Formats: sequence, structure tokens, C-alpha cells
Amino acid sequence: MKKEWEENLRSVIPYTPGEQPKDAGIIKLNTNENPYPPSPLVGEALLHLDEDALRKYPDPTIGALCAALAKRAGLEKDQVFVGIGSDDVLAMSFMAFFNSERPILFPDITYSFYDVWAELFRIPYRLVPLDEEFRICTQDYRGRAGGIVIPNPNAPTGLAMGVKELEQLVLDHPECVVIIDEAYVDFGAGSMLPLINRYENLLVVQTFSKSRSMAGMRIGAAYGSRKLIKTLLDVKYSFNSYTLNAPAIAAGVASLKDEQYFAETIEKIIATRERTKQELSKLGFVFPDSSANFLFVTHPDLQAAELFGALRKEKIFVRYFDKPRIDRYLRITIGRDEEMDALIAFLKNYLKQETERRGV
Ligand code: PMP
Repeated sequence: MKKEWEENLRSVIPYTPGEQPKDAGIIKLNTNENPYPPSPLVGEALLHLDEDALRKYPDPTIGALCAALAKRAGLEKDQVFVGIGSDDVLAMSFMAFFNSERPILFPDITYSFYDVWAELFRIPYRLVPLDEEFRICTQDYRGRAGGIVIPNPNAPTGLAMGVKELEQLVLDHPECVVIIDEAYVDFGAGSMLPLINRYENLLVVQTFSKSRSMAGMRIGAAYGSRKLIKTLLDVKYSFNSYTLNAPAIAAGVASLKDEQYFAETIEKIIATRERTKQELSKLGFVFPDSSANFLFVTHPDLQAAELFGALRKEKIFVRYFDKPRIDRYLRITIGRDEEMDALIAFLKNYLKQETERRGV
């Protein structure tokens, strides 16, 4: 029997993050990290931190980083909000903006943290199905909503939408805040940042975890109208004034000083992604045409769960979601060229063995 105090415990089903195995020799293609290091300027900034950076509280306004991000986006400092990874920024945004009785809307196949936050903050929500080809159909978002969240490109499909179509969605929903989660935008989609000054209800969220190779630093940002950013700040200061630590602030500012390195890294990942698409197609894999740093693949002759296990045995980690509609798929992060070569070599061999086993 439950004790009386146990009756009052909050029960939630948490988000399950991808594994972070530590053994040597692992090919880690399971959490969409960048396989290349951050800009060398980041390491230098961390080495040269003065002792005050640790002794004193960090700047609660995260002013230096907000200013650098604003400049890059052609916005003002008070149109930018920074948090501990975009997970933190998104969670605060759910809390700050989604307080309507009407459900918020997001795709049925998408980043699996959205429904966790909705549950946590007791926000009503409705999942809007993707079409058969995993496309987001904006006409299915018609009608007044409590809020809308769209990742562009979507995860785990990798499919991107056009800026015009997303702009129409914002125009169609003046009654609520529309969040565009651009965690993967730098790998080939168009950003909504140039529209920030046009729509007061548009919030664009980005991260340093993917294209800037800084998942370990935990830096995320939101861009929006002054009203939205002020609302986010009010929630943040009601929770924890000092979110980003001083080393993270310095590292973030340093990363933004090296645009060339940033562009080169992205270019390499895109080239590897396009080559991997070709190799996987040759092996009979099928996948949406990803604009992100991962591919979402299926094969008509293979069971995804089994292949996931076989890859894991070979120390190749990818992501499998045992969920309706996507349980025949694996999400594979784009790693270095040699890592993708090892993956392709394994898959060739696996397919050959499977064909022999079935006596085809
Ligand atoms: N949005 C999407 C769509 C993601 O896939 C991720 C990464 N798991 C995040 C946000 C959060 O990334 P981070 O907290 O590292 O910025």
C-alpha cells in the first residue's frame, strides 16, 4: 500500500537520452554529435580563463554571448535568450508561452522531448501526423491552437521545410507562439532568423551542440521579439539566475569568432552525408532526403531492431526508436568519413550474410 506522502509524488515518464558509452574503439553515431572538435579558439578561451571566472558568479544576463549572437543574426541583444543547451531553452519556452486551454500542436514523429515537456508542465497537446513520406503537412495545423512547435529540419527524419511555408504557418496563427526548433538548420535548411523582426509571435531556437561541436558545453539560444524574450527572462529569473557558467559563456563567444572554421566543418559533414546517402542507396536502404547531420534509414529486407543489435555488437552505436510508424528505422548520425566507411563495410557484409541465411 502507498504511504500517504507517496500519494503526492509527481510521476512523469522522462525523456530517454541516447547512450554515452565510454569504451575505446566505439563508432558513436547515436546522438547527432559533431565528429569534429570545436574551433581552436574555444580551447584557447578556456585555457585563458582568469580565476575570477570561477570565483565569482557568472553574468546572469549572459550579456557577451547574447550580444555576439544578436550581432550575427542582425538583431538587438534584447531579442536573444541563452540557456543550458536548447533543451533548457525549449523547456523554459514551453513553460513561458504555452498556458492556453487549447492544445499545442507538434508532429507525431518528432523530437521526443516535446511531449515530455507538455506532460511535465501539464500543457494539453495534440500530435499532428506526418504524411506517408514523413512530411509535415501545414494544412493539418489549421484552427486556433495553444501553440505550435516545428523542428526544421525535423528529427529524426531529417526532412526540412521551406521558409515560405513556415512563414505562412506563423501568419496563420497570430493567436499563439510558434516555435521553430532549428537544432540542425546549419546542415542545409533555411533559417527563420531573418523573419524575427516581422512576427512578434515567432521564436527560433538554435544550439551550439551540433554545428558548433559543443554538446558538452550545453549552450542553446532563442531569438524572438522583445516581448517574447522578456517573458522568457522572467521565467528564467524565477527559476535560476545563473544558468550558463562562466567557462561556457567564454567558450560560446570564442566559437562565434571563428566563422571560417564553422563553415568548413559543416561543409565536410554535408559532403560525407551526401556520399553516405549514395552508398546506402546502393545497398537498398531507403530514407527521407535529410538536410541534417543524420540519416533515418530503413531496408525492406532487414529488421531494424536486429540490425541495431548487430551494429552494437560491432561497437557501432546508432539510435533505434521502438515506436509506432518508425520501428523499422534507424537514425544514423553522420560521423567522419572513415567512420561512415566502417559502417558501410559492416552493412555490406551483414546484408550478404542475411541473404545467404535466407537462401535467396
Ligand atoms: N532539438 C532537437 C530537435 C534535438 O534533436 C536536440 C538534441 N537532442 C535538441 C533540440 C537539444 O539539443 P541541446 O540541448 O544539446 O541544444
